[in-house]
Amino acid sequence: MADPLDTFRTLHRILKQKTDLESRLKRGPQQVAASQNRVNHCQDKLSEAKKRVQAARMAADDKQLQLKSREARVEDLNGKLNTAATNKEYQAIKEQIAADEQANAVLADETFEMLEKIDELNDAVSQVEASLKTCQDEFADVSSRVEELQKKLESELERVLEEMKLTEKELPGDVKSDYLRMVKTRGESSFAEVENGTCGNCYQTLTPQLLDQLTMKKTVFCSGCGSVLYTPERV
Ligand SMILES: [Zn+2]
Repeated sequence: MADPLDTFRTLHRILKQKTDLESRLKRGPQQVAASQNRVNHCQDKLSEAKKRVQAARMAADDKQLQLKSREARVEDLNGKLNTAATNKEYQAIKEQIAADEQANAVLADETFEMLEKIDELNDAVSQVEASLKTCQDEFADVSSRVEELQKKLESELERVLEEMKLTEKELPGDVKSDYLRMVKTRGESSFAEVENGTCGNCYQTLTPQLLDQLTMKKTVFCSGCGSVLYTPERV
């Protein structure tokens, strides 16, 4: 028959490993999701940047069309100069041409500025594309690393659960049913190591009677938190 305190000690260690493995198993998918979020964020930024280019291009096209039709009008006016019936009419057409040419020069400048702006917006698209690529590479990397790690952790957990079952079989009859009930809700804190005469779980000072019982290798529950107590291994 195994020393019950040994069994408690071992089972406590196993339960701690189980908690650790389970929390690491949860962390993996969270890392993948965070990386996916960064990719999504970059994709949103890219589609916004592309929309800005598209809008600027449409506005520039519009300006260029305006400019063309106004240039055609100036040409038209130039043609009318020859058909002017009076000097006054001739002067009026001349003035109109001058005014239109001035307006067209402004329009041409504006068009040029818009084309420059489009170049800048295209540069911005390239930058976002580059950071999207970085995010996608990182996502692929994180996914494959996590996938590999999850497999390892799962098989380790499987091994730990197997060890747990075997160790639970060694539990003394008087504690087994209490333990099985307790472990479902309390997990690793079903057990507590006694440190300097206090419970390692709730830090309550244990009575000399309880400590005596422990020395006699009896099953003792902490009167404060109800954990099954065990003493540290003597080296
Ligand atoms: Zn306690």
